[in-house]
Amino acid sequence: KQKHGQLRLSILGATGSIGQSTLDIITHNPERFAVAAVTANRNAHGLADAAIRVGAERAVLADAEGYGLLKDLLAGTGIGVAAGPEAVEEAATCDAGMVVAAIVGAAGLAPTLAAVKKGRAIALANKECLVCAGSLFMEMADRHGATILPVDSEHNAIFQVLEARNAEQVEKVILTASGGPFRDKTLEEMRSVSPEEALKHPNWDMGQRISIDSATMMNKGFEVIEAHHLYGLPAERLEVLVHPQSAVHGLVQYRDGSLLAQMGTPDMRTPIAHCLAWPERIPVATQRLDLAALGSLTFEKPDGLRFPALPLAYRALETGMAATAALNAADEVAVDAFLRRRIGFLDITAIVERTIETLERAGDLSGCGSIFDVMNVDGAARRLAEGFSRS
Ligand code: NAD
Ligand code: MG
Repeated sequence: KQKHGQLRLSILGATGSIGQSTLDIITHNPERFAVAAVTANRNAHGLADAAIRVGAERAVLADAEGYGLLKDLLAGTGIGVAAGPEAVEEAATCDAGMVVAAIVGAAGLAPTLAAVKKGRAIALANKECLVCAGSLFMEMADRHGATILPVDSEHNAIFQVLEARNAEQVEKVILTASGGPFRDKTLEEMRSVSPEEALKHPNWDMGQRISIDSATMMNKGFEVIEAHHLYGLPAERLEVLVHPQSAVHGLVQYRDGSLLAQMGTPDMRTPIAHCLAWPERIPVATQRLDLAALGSLTFEKPDGLRFPALPLAYRALETGMAATAALNAADEVAVDAFLRRRIGFLDITAIVERTIETLERAGDLSGCGSIFDVMNVDGAARRLAEGFSRS
């Protein structure tokens, strides 16, 4: 089925927000791409639709219980069906030229790492790979010749601005942040916000976890850690600026004083397409940025008092990989507890902070050198954060 010159893709997390945007690009550029595999967690209907839409060779559910339903849904299509975590890893390591890593959370680490070890090009949306295990992940990519192409809009922007330039000449990198739905709220007002309000992002349409992380600004903290690993810059050369219009996605300041930016409308199809076509560019029918209609762009320093997740993430980055792995794990648990209305909005960051402090006092945040260590600290942080979410 594959035509000459086509890029074969394996799409992990095809039913999600990033996954669906990826499918949209593929259906608009059918001559360029072939799909070896699509995967999802539990949503058999969504996965079957995705597989049919792009003519995937196989569809894989992480949850083995959905196998029967998926098989029925795809009967007679010729699309192969599999289920279970091993099958997801097989999809990640199949003979694709590029793997789109768009699973949410630490669950994406094992399959993405498996693809890295095969030396695949990775369009990396799953920032948790870098938050949990950044040094190991990048080391592994280096060793196995896996090219990491950042999908996250800020990092993709920086990648575009850095391309073919010498990183030594970089003074600092600036990540922009929309500020989320509560940019102008006081702490007192944030105390009682509902999951529905927190999920309503002003500029981006995204999955639940990253939407809540954008509201607390933990997402921007994760992105600082992500940028540190992708671009090898220390924390003091990674800056965050709140930019409510989300027109400028990232900037690089060079040592001669030049400040270069990448801009566009807030639509993930642009950075995804940049990764899929790299080093070329393909047509994407996003709305174009109308600067005259926008009129003005504003920038301000983030407020670490109202959004303590951001300084917390900087501190975790200084502490090391165990701390950033714990940061992610505790946040996954706390965000889930908030979405289930078991804790308040401000409790999310408070629980993450308490988890890290507890682990630090116990001496559990030092000497994290392997994926096994990362999974251990991830487990310990989850157990603590679950306890704190109940009390
Ligand atoms: P989403 O919740 O919309 O989709 C997540 C996908 O992962 C789904 O396909 C789901 O089936 C799959 N999945 C979830 N748990 C799984 C598990 N345990 N095992 C296997 N598969 C599982 O999330 P999203 O918004 O598309 O985000 C995906 C990743 O991309 C995240 O790491 C996020 O931080 C990152 N990202 C997203 C955006 C965005 O605009 N949505 C922007 C930048 C980065
Ligand atoms: Mg981002």
